[in-house]
Amino acid sequence: MNMHPNKKHQAKYIVITGGVLSGLGKGVAAASIGSLHKQKLKIVPIKCDGYLNTDPGTMNPVEHGEVFVLDDGGEVDMDFGHYERFLGIRAKSTWSITMGKVYKQILENERKGVYLGKTVQLIPHVTDEIKHRFKAIAREEQADLVLIEIGGTIGDMEIQLFVEAVRQLQFEVGRENLMQVHLTYVPIPTGTKEQKSKPTQTSVRMLNQAGLYPDMLIARCRRMLTEPVRQKIALFCNLEPEAIISGIDVHPIYDLPLVFEEQGVAELIHKRMHLYSPPALDETRRLVGNLKKLQKGPAREKTVALCGKYTDLEDSYASINEALLHCAAHLEVKINQKFIDTTHLAPETLPAALEGVDGVIVPGGFGVRGLEGKIQVIRHLREKGIPFLGICLGMQLAVIEFARHVCGLTGANSTEVEKEIGKVEVPVIDLLPEQVAITDYGGTMRLGGHDVEIRPGTRASEVYGGRTAIRQRFRHRYEVNPAYIAALEKGGLVFSGKAPGRDIMQVMELPGHRFFMAAQFHPELTSLLEKPDELFYHFVKAML
Ligand code: GLN
Repeated sequence: MNMHPNKKHQAKYIVITGGVLSGLGKGVAAASIGSLHKQKLKIVPIKCDGYLNTDPGTMNPVEHGEVFVLDDGGEVDMDFGHYERFLGIRAKSTWSITMGKVYKQILENERKGVYLGKTVQLIPHVTDEIKHRFKAIAREEQADLVLIEIGGTIGDMEIQLFVEAVRQLQFEVGRENLMQVHLTYVPIPTGTKEQKSKPTQTSVRMLNQAGLYPDMLIARCRRMLTEPVRQKIALFCNLEPEAIISGIDVHPIYDLPLVFEEQGVAELIHKRMHLYSPPALDETRRLVGNLKKLQKGPAREKTVALCGKYTDLEDSYASINEALLHCAAHLEVKINQKFIDTTHLAPETLPAALEGVDGVIVPGGFGVRGLEGKIQVIRHLREKGIPFLGICLGMQLAVIEFARHVCGLTGANSTEVEKEIGKVEVPVIDLLPEQVAITDYGGTMRLGGHDVEIRPGTRASEVYGGRTAIRQRFRHRYEVNPAYIAALEKGGLVFSGKAPGRDIMQVMELPGHRFFMAAQFHPELTSLLEKPDELFYHFVKAML
C-alpha cells in the first residue's frame, strides 16, 4: 500500500559533463554508469546538444556521425545508440534535447503569449524550459535514475544554458538527489612518460566557475592513473582520491562497465545518493571475455567489406560496427572490417577491391555518388555466391541490379537520382506515395518502428525463427515500385517481408544463393551484445 499518496516521485539525477577535448566518449561513459544499475532501476537517459538544428537528421554523417533512429521515429544523436545498447531500453525522441528544440519552443510560447508581457530572457525563460523538460521526463517515465549527458566541452558557449540549468536544478531537487560526473582527459605527451593533470585541473576550475562541483571525475587516459596523479587531481579538484576513476581505453567498449565496477563506481554513487542496486554483469563479462580472446588470437577470422561513401569517419556506420561485434561475440569469430569507397570503382579494379573479402554489406545512404560502383559490387556478389547483406539503400540497389541484369530491364534505376542525372526510364525504385507531396527535408522520411510481415517458407522466416511478424526501424523516402514487383518475382527474386496491409517491400532474398538478403529497414539499430540482430547473425554465420 502506498503510505504517501501525495508524496511526489523523486528521481535521482546523474549529470555528465565533459572537459578538455570533445570525443572522449561521454555517451559511452554515461551509458556504462547507467548499465551498472539497469538490473533493478528504471533508467532514463537525456542527451543535451548545444546546436541549433532541431535534430541531427539533416546533418552529414561524416561531420556528425551516424543518425540514430528511435522506435518513435525520432532522429537523434548516435549516443542514443549506446544508451539503448548498454541499458537495453527503448529511448524516446523527447529525451534528446537540442538547443534548436528549446529555442523553437521559446519562440512559439512567446507568440502564444505564454510569457504574459515579460521580456523573454535566457535566464530564467530558457533555463526554465530546460529544467522543465528534465523534470517532466523524469515524472512521465517514473524514472529512478535520470542520466543527463551534456554534449560538447565545458567552456563551449553553446552549452552554457544547459550547464546553468543543471546548476539550478541541483537546488530544486536537493543535493542528495543530483550527482555530477565530469569526464576529462589526462594526456601522456610523447617524449615524457608522465601523465599530465593540468588540463583536468583547468577544466574543473571552469566547471567550478559555472557553479558546478563534480562528485566524481573520470579521467580518460591510455593507462590507469598512477597513484600520485590521482592524489594530485583529487587535491586540486576537492575530491577524495577514490572518486577519481581511470577511464582507460577499452576494446570492446562493453568492457567499460566492468572497468568502472572494478573501481567502485556503483559504490561511489551509492555513497553519494543512496542509490544501490548491485550490478549484474556476468553475461557482459562472458561476452566481453569472448571478444578479448578473439583479439588476442589465434582465432578464426572473416573479413567484411562495407561499401559506402561516408568512409572518412568510422562513426558514420557506428551501429553496423556494433552489430558485427555482437555477432562476433556469439559466433566466436574475429571480424575484420574493410571499407570500400565505390565512388571510383571500375570493373577492372573491382576484383582487387574485393580480394580477401568474405562478405559485403551495402549500407544505407543518399544521393548518386558511388551508386553505380555499389551496383557493380552487388552483381559480383550475386554471380559469385559471396554473402551479401543490403540495408535500406543497399536493398534498393540490389533490386536495381537484379532488374537490370536478370530481368533485362536495362534502364532500371531509382527516381532518387533523377535530380542529378535526369529522367529514369525504368523506375523500379520510386518515392513512397505519401512522400510525393513533401517538400521539407527535416524529419519527413518514413521514420521509426514499423511492423514487418515475414513470408513463411522463406530464408527470412528461417532467420526470424518462424515468426511471421517482427518490428524494425526505418528511415527512407523511396521503396520498391509496386508496379515492378511481379516482374522482379518472375525473374526469381523473392520478397520475403512486407508492410502489413501495404505493398511496401521490406525484405528481399535470392533463393539458392549462400546468403543474399537485404532489408528496407535498419536491423543494426536494434542489435544488442546480449542479443545480436538475427539478420546480421545469419549473414555472419553464412560466412563461416
Ligand atoms: N535514399 C534512400 C531512401 O530515401 C535510402 C535511405 C537509406 O538508406 N536510409 O529511400
